[in-house]
Amino acid sequence: MEVRRQIDVSGIVQGVGFRPYVYRLATGRRLRGTIRNTPAGVTIEIQGPEETVQDFVDRLPAEAPPLARITSLAVHDLPCDDVPCNDDRHFLIVHSHEDEEVRTLISPDVAICPDCLGELFDPNDRRYRYPFINCTNCGPRFTIIRDIPYDRPSTSMAMFRMCPACLAEYENPLDRRFHAQPNACWECGPRVELWDKSGGKIECRDPIAEAVSGLHAGLVVAVKGLGGFHLAVDATKAAAVARLRERKRRVEKPFAVMVPDLRAAAGICELDGEAPTVLQSIQRPIVLLPKKSSGVIPDDVAPFNRYLGIFLPYTPLHYLLLAEGGFKALVMTSGNLSEEPIAIDNREAVDRLHGLADYFLVHNRDILLRCDDSVVRVAGGVTRQLRRSRGFVPVPVFLKDDQASVLAVGGELKNTICLTKGKHAFLSQHVGDLENVESYSFFHEAIEHLERILEIRPEIIAYDLHPDYFSTKWALQQSGVKLAGVQHHHAHIASCMAENHLEGRVIGFALDGTGYGADGNIWGGEALIAGYEDFERAAHFEYVPLPGGAAAIREPWRMAVSYLAHHFGREFLKLDIPFVRQLNRPKVDLLLRMMEQGVNSPLTSSCGRLFDAVAALVGIRQKVNYEAQAAVELEMAMASSDEDTAYPMKLAPEPVAENNHWVISTRPLFEALLDDLGRNVSVAAISRRFHNGLVAGFVELATLLRKTTALNRVCLSGGTFHNVYLSERLEARLSEAGFEVFTQKEVPSGDGGLSLGQAVVAAAKMRGVGVN
Ligand SMILES: [Zn+2]
Ligand SMILES: [Zn+2]
Ligand SMILES: [Zn+2]
Repeated sequence: MEVRRQIDVSGIVQGVGFRPYVYRLATGRRLRGTIRNTPAGVTIEIQGPEETVQDFVDRLPAEAPPLARITSLAVHDLPCDDVPCNDDRHFLIVHSHEDEEVRTLISPDVAICPDCLGELFDPNDRRYRYPFINCTNCGPRFTIIRDIPYDRPSTSMAMFRMCPACLAEYENPLDRRFHAQPNACWECGPRVELWDKSGGKIECRDPIAEAVSGLHAGLVVAVKGLGGFHLAVDATKAAAVARLRERKRRVEKPFAVMVPDLRAAAGICELDGEAPTVLQSIQRPIVLLPKKSSGVIPDDVAPFNRYLGIFLPYTPLHYLLLAEGGFKALVMTSGNLSEEPIAIDNREAVDRLHGLADYFLVHNRDILLRCDDSVVRVAGGVTRQLRRSRGFVPVPVFLKDDQASVLAVGGELKNTICLTKGKHAFLSQHVGDLENVESYSFFHEAIEHLERILEIRPEIIAYDLHPDYFSTKWALQQSGVKLAGVQHHHAHIASCMAENHLEGRVIGFALDGTGYGADGNIWGGEALIAGYEDFERAAHFEYVPLPGGAAAIREPWRMAVSYLAHHFGREFLKLDIPFVRQLNRPKVDLLLRMMEQGVNSPLTSSCGRLFDAVAALVGIRQKVNYEAQAAVELEMAMASSDEDTAYPMKLAPEPVAENNHWVISTRPLFEALLDDLGRNVSVAAISRRFHNGLVAGFVELATLLRKTTALNRVCLSGGTFHNVYLSERLEARLSEAGFEVFTQKEVPSGDGGLSLGQAVVAAAKMRGVGVN
């Protein structure tokens, strides 16, 4: 029987080869019909024998091109007795006037596809060794878009006029390069050049071969990638790695390493479970994996760390560099100085990376928007985002319900922004630490660019309550829009709720380093009873002073002194443990006086600072060189045993508050820990007992809160959950105790995911007061 059906597909289905794919699927089955772009995606009309049409509908999502992301697919019958959807046996791609009006989802930048890779290394292909080979299934998108709609004139490819051969591919619906906007070749496309350290062009026949010899000689080469410059050195050469560290002024913070293929990856890291799939995924994130003691990679690449961040090449240029140099691994770190944003423009790179790079491998396809590499970890079969950026942005996080358009401006560190429209929450790429001027201007750029290409005019701006955050100050200067302040840890929990599509109220554990509290103190070890609209603080770590404010974050020994003085008074100075013996007494006296008089010693319930105190006490680290270093190294020091001993914590009712408000006392924990230190228990065992103690304490707390609230769902969020052992064990123990546990996967649990939570909270608050 002949049938006719209409199929409405929404999601990322434009600019990703979807229409030619449908064309091939239909003509291959001799079905008649049309496909056209619509504002939401595409609409297909299809006619033919019922069985064949059904087969077409079934296969449609299953075999879609790699970049397509179908979010909904609605099929309904059309009367067959109408004029056939097309004049005869053909299937047509309809180019309507509406095409120019079309507003739809934009694809992220993705890695070179297997077809293009085959051509790249095929001496008979016309694009043999062409560093910008791409097709509709791969290549740059987000970082080359100036404006919408996404077609060539609104990208940085506008200046390159396609040669006849490229144009023929571009116009042929059956070609893999049909409407591939960055399509190019040796004849007509961008070119690579090698520049010296001052930006002078080096005349040579083969810039890539020259760059390779530089790397072999141990030099630092700045390489222009998809979302910015990398600084590259041969990762197997300790002296080159040391030179890069020194020039980049990056002390001890791990470098990521690019390896040529999966086999090379398996030589230096443990590739269990999902790891190979994630490494080879089109997003090509940096994946944190357990290091092997291979002897290939010097320790200095990731000192004091059991993990190494590795990734596979994702541009044709990367593949050419690695293949032609025969490198086992290249350090590929963001082209910037310490925490500044990554450099993208050729001249900007020469200026900003002056003195860092010996060579610049540049090209003339402009990067319009910087976008750092994404970082994920794979544990327990789950991939979690640590930094969600290239390859993922601007794919939205899909929300459960439509909501008002909100611009959420994120926090201060690891900043991202978030724009919502309907059911879509678009998080920006990693913007970075707003404390420095360059990041702050990138913050403006990211807002402006995202609003333009997504065509979102927010009704509400959501911001953190911290009065000193640059993002907060910026938000408060905006006019003609509603403003909503959102408490930091409420935003963390709401972020977790939103990506898990939760409604109602949950028990939320928000553990991190720093967040401005509703009482003006610095929170960070919080149990909330939260919904989107509001929250109640159910419990928190007992307050201790943060002596010296920001200095206490850089110098964990101050936190150890703070905790010891808080629990034991000046008596702690008599303790016969290495930590106390090595203290600088005049400095400690000053610190104690500061705390006693309440000078520059704000109160904090931060979980991150508790980790710092313990790390300093056991002698792991007195000063840090990068954020969370002490906590990371305390986790790394843990013994891999199955010891279950846990330091005790005590839950006490909050003295002044009404019911249901608890303070988590850390005194028993420190007593037990000092006991162990006195008995020379190993640091590895102490670290494990400390982690176990936190887990046991929070399971006990959850059980208590379940009794009083009848809530059984627990959300875990905050930067502390980047700690693998803590998050896996807490999730497991809560599940064993019958809780439904929700964690973050799509966006980071750290401050990189904060903007999502701010957006959904602000929208809910506005609904609550009837604004929306
Ligand atoms: Zn391709
Ligand atoms: Zn061409
Ligand atoms: Zn936070």
